[in-house]
Amino acid sequence: MAAAELPLVLLVEDEPAQREVLAYNLEAEGFRVVQAADGEEALMLVDEAAPDLIVLDWMLPLVSGIEVCRRLKMSAETRNIGIIMLSARAEEVDRVRGLETGADDYIIKPYSVVELMARVRAALRRVRPATMGLVLEFEDIRLDAETHRVYRADKVLKLGPTEFRLLSTFMEKPGRVWARDQLLDRVWGRDIYVDTRTVDVHIGRLRKALCQHGGEDPLRTVRGAGYALG
Ligand code: CA
Repeated sequence: MAAAELPLVLLVEDEPAQREVLAYNLEAEGFRVVQAADGEEALMLVDEAAPDLIVLDWMLPLVSGIEVCRRLKMSAETRNIGIIMLSARAEEVDRVRGLETGADDYIIKPYSVVELMARVRAALRRVRPATMGLVLEFEDIRLDAETHRVYRADKVLKLGPTEFRLLSTFMEKPGRVWARDQLLDRVWGRDIYVDTRTVDVHIGRLRKALCQHGGEDPLRTVRGAGYALG
């Protein structure tokens, strides 16, 4: 599996010992991990690394976890990132406030690491099903993320690795319009320089591959915006 396909978790915790334990466990689960020690660094890393999920401590220096969560859920670009809030405050009112801010889940300290990892996996199955080895379906197309096989009307499709990653991205969110830049980040990764025209080339190959046994082209070109499935 290419690195860009593994889920990326941003871990935001100001206590070094706790951060270390969590980072160790997340990596042991097979996730890529980036770490921040305060809210400001967290917001910067969201921009830089585009994580799939954030494990976010509530009480943080500079910008609080609740404020980080509020800002990310307000912006269309970051709204889809899953957020699990960690808090030492057990009062019901705070739990409600955490969820109202848009956090997807909420865990009270002290938590069990096993429990937290289970919640992380559950959140990732929702936000990045293809990276979690699930089977995705759209109309007569079926993509098995575990075996890396794609079927259309029960016939196996031959796809290159890049086309497979493109299709996974589309099938995670049918109907969503992806800009070329967003596809570059998601499919090729942020560290690699690739021209946006490369995206068009691979979209062309994907279209051809999807129709290799017949059927209509399910990909839509949205003028001035990008591409969408269905
Ligand atoms: Ca803290």
